[in-house]
Amino acid sequence: MASNANLTAARQSFVTHLECSMTGERYEADTLHGLSAVGRPLLVRYDLDGVRGAMTKDVLSRRPADLWKYRELLPVRSPDNIVSLGEQETPLVTLDRVGAKRGARAPIVKDEGRLPTGSFKARGLVMAVSMAKALGVQTIAMPTNGNAGAAAAAYATRAGIEMVVLCPDDTPEINVREIAAQGARVYRVNGLIDDCGAIVGAACKANGWFDFSTLKEPYRIEGKKTMGLELAEQLGWEMPDAIFYPTGGGTGLIGMWKAFDELEALGFIGAERPRMYAVQAEGCAPMVRAFEAGVEHADRWEDAHTVAAGIRVPKAVGDFLILRAVRDSGGAALAVSDAALLAAVDEAAGDGLLLCPEGGATLAAYDRALDAGKVGRDERVVLFNCATGLKYPMPDKSRTIDRHAAIDFASL
Ligand SMILES: *Cc1c(COP(=O)(O)O)cnc(C)c1O
Repeated sequence: MASNANLTAARQSFVTHLECSMTGERYEADTLHGLSAVGRPLLVRYDLDGVRGAMTKDVLSRRPADLWKYRELLPVRSPDNIVSLGEQETPLVTLDRVGAKRGARAPIVKDEGRLPTGSFKARGLVMAVSMAKALGVQTIAMPTNGNAGAAAAAYATRAGIEMVVLCPDDTPEINVREIAAQGARVYRVNGLIDDCGAIVGAACKANGWFDFSTLKEPYRIEGKKTMGLELAEQLGWEMPDAIFYPTGGGTGLIGMWKAFDELEALGFIGAERPRMYAVQAEGCAPMVRAFEAGVEHADRWEDAHTVAAGIRVPKAVGDFLILRAVRDSGGAALAVSDAALLAAVDEAAGDGLLLCPEGGATLAAYDRALDAGKVGRDERVVLFNCATGLKYPMPDKSRTIDRHAAIDFASL
């Protein structure tokens, strides 16, 4: 990785300031911030004229294919603070059989399971930890449903920052173990992710730790926005017709929407946008309920349950940003059942791609949108698979062979 100029070359970051996503109030760059004064996420702003001069399409096409190629549009100023584990560009994989079966153009999966720690949480956390390092943070605490904690643990450990992670006690076992294996202290809590978040908040106050909860620090969005930058570049700077995104805290959806605005300001794309579909599970669908009710904020979803742990988020601090992007794009928020999302995982495996349950949810939601006529069969659709399916339990479909008995080869 030392040979990757994206990580070592002196390149200017064009960050100018931070801004409250609700009130527009300005905050100074390069100092430590949590939420804004009104308790809402802060967004990072750039001198986009400056970026335009330094980062052209042609320049980008000649840089190594990882998320650090967009450095001018990212907050980390000095390469010394980049804490990388190799955040390579993730591939676009078409589901040809899935498409053929529906008489539709094959949906495209952006397979984020190829990133370090096996999920797209790496994009957000590599940025947040690099900035924490730049700003001198010593201990970070965060609540997680699994993948975020794993990515945070890996990068924090690499950066020499102490990491404390709290997760619901039914978090997938592999996540709990990988968090500890990658150097963090991990606690199981008898509650949901927002219950963990409340304890984290109190612990940060008591112990002087930095709160890394989703959207409570400004830089995870900047990391996640690289999904939008990368997707646009991979598609030759053409927007797809629709994006299906498995939505928990919504960082990725908010980040991509921000990326598209920045790309338009840079003149890389026009005013066209994909319709954004926020996908949730029927057992935890606060965004879907708020979308259908036509309101700007989402109430907490009680008794949240779904096998898709990454989207089991009863309450999101960026709710209004998710709903705004979905509505402005002409998309929708859609809920699917656990049975439907698991069946979708099964079906995509028939195209050779093992989705995670949250990724399966996007395929199930695509079906619902197709049936409802929200998406056309000829449209270019991108589904986000946000973690490798290998991190989740799978049904055992194996059979056994007794090597000491006679084997009926015709029956194999
Ligand atoms: C975290 C996570 C999500 C939800 O992402 P947000 O951007 O926080 O909404 C979806 N899928 C997987 C696998 C995740 O780990």
